[in-house]
Amino acid sequence: MDSQSQRAYLQAMGIPLYRPRADARMNAPAPPPAAPEAVATEPVASSASDGELAALQQEIAACQAGDLWQGRTQTVFGVGDPHAEVMFVGEAPGAEEDRQGEPFVGPAGKLLDAMLAAIGLDRQEGGVFIANVLKCRPPNNRDPRAEEVAACASYLRRQIDLVQPKVLVALGRVAAQSLLDSQQALAKLRGREQQFHDTPLLVTYHPAYLLRNPADKAKAWQDLKAVRRRIHG
Ligand code: URA
Repeated sequence: MDSQSQRAYLQAMGIPLYRPRADARMNAPAPPPAAPEAVATEPVASSASDGELAALQQEIAACQAGDLWQGRTQTVFGVGDPHAEVMFVGEAPGAEEDRQGEPFVGPAGKLLDAMLAAIGLDRQEGGVFIANVLKCRPPNNRDPRAEEVAACASYLRRQIDLVQPKVLVALGRVAAQSLLDSQQALAKLRGREQQFHDTPLLVTYHPAYLLRNPADKAKAWQDLKAVRRRIHG
């Protein structure tokens, strides 16, 4: 990504941009490192796991475990590269996601797209997969209940096993606590590398939280740089 695009994306994220001034250049803090080139953009080669992922999507679409299926328009499986190096995991579909059948397509999704772009990723291109803990929308966007998380847990586990990302990113408390089977606060879980079975897991803020608390976008940017290091380092 060129530095102009990265500046645009950091601006969209609300990260203050460094502007060199003639009289302050010597003492100015270093600007964020340039984002590496976006990861592979060629069409993804088909393999056994592509078919298995498609089969899992069909299985989830027919799921009637728990109660949430009764209120859904459709299940929201996930979107992206079946061989992604990084997999972002959110909480549950909202109203717009339930309508469109794709995760993160509402206002929080716009911010997530800016966060991805800031580290050279694009959901339409290769390299990234986006999923949720729950595949059905909870009514009135309430938090998922423990039994709902338990009912969907094996689906997310199988998605992760099939995609085999280099790194998982939990977006927000619900995803982090579900993946880590922890009750710890998000503040305690982010900022260091965690592990989901054999896969490294990084935790950051949910984009919907960042829309309400823009002051924490700078910390989210630190988390995203750690994701970028994990992919490329
Ligand atoms: N919030 C989530 O956690 N997931 C979505 O898909 C949309 C909003």
